[in-house]
Amino acid sequence: MISGMAAVPEPSLILRFEEARHLVEDHAARLHPHGKELVELLESAGQVLAEPVLADRNFPPFPRAMRDGYAVRAADLYQLPATLDVIGEIKAGAGKDDIPVVQPGQTAAIMTGAPAPPGADAIVMVEHTSRHADRVQIMKGVAAGDNIVPAGSEAKRGERLLSPGLRLDYAAIAVAASTGRSRLLVYRKPQVAVLATGDEIVDIDVPPATNQIRNSNSYSLAAQVQSAGGEPVLLPIAPDEPTRLRELIADGLEGDLLLLAGGVSMGKYDLVEQVLAEFQAEFFFTAVLIQPGKPVVFGRIPCGAGAPAREPPASPQTHTYFFGLPGNPVSTMVTFELFARPVLEALSGTTPRKLVFLNARLKSEVRTKTGLKRFLPAILSGEFEHAEVELVPWHGSGDVASMVRANCYVVIPPDRERIAAGEWVPVLMM
Ligand code: AMP
Ligand code: MG
Repeated sequence: MISGMAAVPEPSLILRFEEARHLVEDHAARLHPHGKELVELLESAGQVLAEPVLADRNFPPFPRAMRDGYAVRAADLYQLPATLDVIGEIKAGAGKDDIPVVQPGQTAAIMTGAPAPPGADAIVMVEHTSRHADRVQIMKGVAAGDNIVPAGSEAKRGERLLSPGLRLDYAAIAVAASTGRSRLLVYRKPQVAVLATGDEIVDIDVPPATNQIRNSNSYSLAAQVQSAGGEPVLLPIAPDEPTRLRELIADGLEGDLLLLAGGVSMGKYDLVEQVLAEFQAEFFFTAVLIQPGKPVVFGRIPCGAGAPAREPPASPQTHTYFFGLPGNPVSTMVTFELFARPVLEALSGTTPRKLVFLNARLKSEVRTKTGLKRFLPAILSGEFEHAEVELVPWHGSGDVASMVRANCYVVIPPDRERIAAGEWVPVLMM
């Protein structure tokens, strides 16, 4: 349902960076993923776990040798060097029948990963021994328990190893594999509609006229959406004309989140906010005091008012959230990272990551105007703890080529006109 008189959002919805970020985080904290699906473990990297994974047995299942060497009774080594009788050899994978009981004065050669034999309480590394036929001389003492991982010490059978909401990285996948899980229940990836706008924007497989610009934003956003756990759905490019823009926004509201790029500045043909308002959009901010990306817009549209009504069991969501990202390619990228990412992470079923800032020394002086918090593409370098950072020379927020050279953003507070070379500055990693 589209109301006739659309309220264009008030100019008072201009927030400071921290206010805008907190607002986004507060909304994200109330969002949930929609649905679950079973995936093959090999396909699960980056997906968000939707079930607990329990230890199906003790970890390790037997007292495990951590070193190649000799399984001993630590008390036998009270005087060094000590000479012990070698009564056998235990390989990794050895069965019960291949494992001798170690009596006082005896030892068994043992390999890393093999079960420690009954009677022995420690392993002496082979480096501290000297073997002569069926006797071994031990040069170094050990304490009981040394170099043996007791059965069940890493995890007891039934213990929870992975919890729902965990994004599956290689370590989590190793745990799932260790418990014999070849499939995992994960949250369905949120569908993220991506809508680039602008009369001058053309598809990348069309030869552009001199006055036209290829659509890079839909592709950079698609990559960012994927890295935040979403599935991008690219819509056709919207012209700067309300009827078609309205149709495409309606299509975009079928997704779990709508990302628009371009058309949110103050220009006469920047129509995005106006058309969103026709869908009864609630705007949380329409600009943030940052650079690049000041005109960024965040809001939501109630389901039924353009956003399709969703069945409550399928989705507890009552609204479809949207971001209107500024169209300058670097602004689009930065505002996605600063504001859209946490909402998408929440919709994918994981707790949004906090922004993490490092500190580094500025290599050369930076001068800016005051009033905006700046996130300037930069290169972090330097050995070990001597981090240095330098702005990438750039021609403003349309300069995608300069962005490729950057690996971080230098953060300049809104009250600083000049930061001298050698000062410590906060750095946000990409
Ligand atoms: P806008 O935010 O619509 O005012 O656009 C700002 C600048 O970004 C203009 O120079 C646009 O041509 C450029 N731009 C907008 N959308 C895209 C896009 N999808 N791909 C590449 N450049 C874009
Ligand atoms: Mg435009």
